Amino acid sequence: MSKKLPTRQEDYSLWYNEIVKRAGLAENSAVRGCMVIKPYGYAIWEKMQRQLDDMFKRTGHENAYFPIFIPKSLFEAEEKNAEGFAKECAVVTHYRLQTDPDRPGKLRVDPTAKLEEELIVRPTSEAIIWSTYKNWVQSYRDLPLLINQWANVVRWEMRTRLFLRTAEFLWQEGHTAHATAEEAVAETRQMLDVYAEFAEEHMALPVVKGVKTPNERFAGAEDTYCIEALMQDGKALQAGTSHFLGQNFAKAFDVQFANKEGVREYVWGTSWGVSTRLMGALVMAHSDDEGLVLPPKLAPIQVVIVPIYKTGELDALLERIKPIQMGLIARGISVKVDARDTERPGFKFAEWEMKGVPVRLAIGARDLDNGTVEVARRDTKAKMSLPLADIVASVDQLLTDIQHDMYEKAKQFRATHTTRVDSYDEFKRVLDNEAGFVLAHYDGTSETEERIKDETKATVRCLALNEPDEDGTCMVTGKPSTRRAYFARAY
Ligand code: AMP
Repeated sequence: MSKKLPTRQEDYSLWYNEIVKRAGLAENSAVRGCMVIKPYGYAIWEKMQRQLDDMFKRTGHENAYFPIFIPKSLFEAEEKNAEGFAKECAVVTHYRLQTDPDRPGKLRVDPTAKLEEELIVRPTSEAIIWSTYKNWVQSYRDLPLLINQWANVVRWEMRTRLFLRTAEFLWQEGHTAHATAEEAVAETRQMLDVYAEFAEEHMALPVVKGVKTPNERFAGAEDTYCIEALMQDGKALQAGTSHFLGQNFAKAFDVQFANKEGVREYVWGTSWGVSTRLMGALVMAHSDDEGLVLPPKLAPIQVVIVPIYKTGELDALLERIKPIQMGLIARGISVKVDARDTERPGFKFAEWEMKGVPVRLAIGARDLDNGTVEVARRDTKAKMSLPLADIVASVDQLLTDIQHDMYEKAKQFRATHTTRVDSYDEFKRVLDNEAGFVLAHYDGTSETEERIKDETKATVRCLALNEPDEDGTCMVTGKPSTRRAYFARAY
C-alpha cells in the first residue's frame, strides 16, 4: 500500500476522502460534482439495495420506472416544490448538436433544435409521478398506490463531497397515494421505521427518528420525518427522509378519487428516499485509521483467506484450504481466497484491512497440522487462534458478533456525544469541544433557529419522536418551550 492514511485526528475530511479512494469505493469524475462508483463501492450499494428492496416489498410496495425528464410546465405545477428545487435544477434546452462553422472538428448546439418546452432533469420525481397518478386513480378501489423507483437524480449542488453530497446521486424514491390522511401518515411513519431498522440492523448505525422543523421541511411536504446519525467527528448526518405530502400534489395535479359514497376527494400522498449518501454514512461511522470497517451484513467479501506458504507449496495448501472455503460458502458467507503469488502476506493483510473485510483467516500448513487457524477481526483488530475442527461455525458466529459489536460501539459513541444543555453558553462550549448531538430547549420559531444557525453553525436536526415533553425555557430568548430539540453541526 502507498503512503499511510491520514488519521481521523489529523484531518477527518482528508481521511474520509482517502478511504473512499483507497478502498476502491468511488472517485471523482470528469464532471464536476459527479462521482464514479467503482466495483467494490457498487457491490456495497447493491447489498444495501437488495436489503431495502426486500423490506419495501415486504411492506407491500412495487417497483416502477418514470422518465428522467420533467416538462417544465409539470415541474412548476406544485409551486412550493418547484421553488424549493429551482436553484439546483439542470435544464435541457436543445436536442441536437451540429458542426461548429467557426471551430473545425468541434460541435455546438444547433440553434434550430431548441425544445419548445424545456425539460428539467429530475431532482425528485413527485411532479412526473403525480401527473401519471392522475390517470391511474379514479375510485377508492384504485387506492392505495404503493410504488417505489430506483433511479438517479440530479441536484446542482455547489459544495460536493463523495457520496455524502453529489450533483448526481443514486437513490430510491417511494411515492404513495392514499384515500385518507391517517393512512398516508401511517405510511410515512412505517417507512421511517423501515429506514431506521435498515440503518440499525444492517449498517450497524444507530439513528434518531424525528420530525424536521418547517425550515428544513421538504419543499411541498406537510411534514418531513427523518433519521439522523452521528459521525465520528461529532457531526450529524441526515440519513433518510419520509414525507407526508398532505393533498399538495393531488391538488396540483388534480388527482381525485370517488369515495365509497361516490363523493370526489383529493388523494393523500407520501414520498420517502434514501440515497448513496448512506455509503458515506457507513464509511464515516465505522472506519478507522487503517481504512474501511464494514459491518458483515453489507460487506461484499465477509471473510478473506490469506494462505501462508513457502515457495512451491501454494497449490498443496490451497487444496487443504478448500474444505474451509466450501464450508463457509455453504453457510451463505462470501469468501475470497487471496492466492496471488505476486504479493506478500503483509501486503495482503493491509489491503484487505483497507477494504474493511470483517474477518481474515491466515492459514499455513503448520497451523493446519496443529489443528488451528489464525483469525483476525477487522473491527477490533483482535487476533485469535481457533480450532480447525469447528472453524466454519466459529467464523459464522464471529460475523454475528462483529455486526452486533459494531452497532454497540456506535451506540456507545453516540451516548458519550449526546449532551443536554440548559444555557446558550454551554451549548456553544459543547459544540466547540465534544460536538455531537446537543439537546436543548428553544422557542420553536424560525427566527431563533436561524439565529442559532448563524451564530453557531448548528442546526435543529429534528424533534425526536421519543423525546418526552419537558417544560423549559429557550436558551436564546428565554421564552417557554415544551420539549428539547436535537441540535448538531451537520453534513
Ligand atoms: P430529499 O428528497 O431531499 O428528502 O432527500 C432524499 C434523500 O436523499 C435523503 O436521504 C438525503 O439524505 C439524500 N440526499 C439529498 N441530497 C443529496 C445529495 N446531493 N447527494 C446524496 N444524497 C442526497
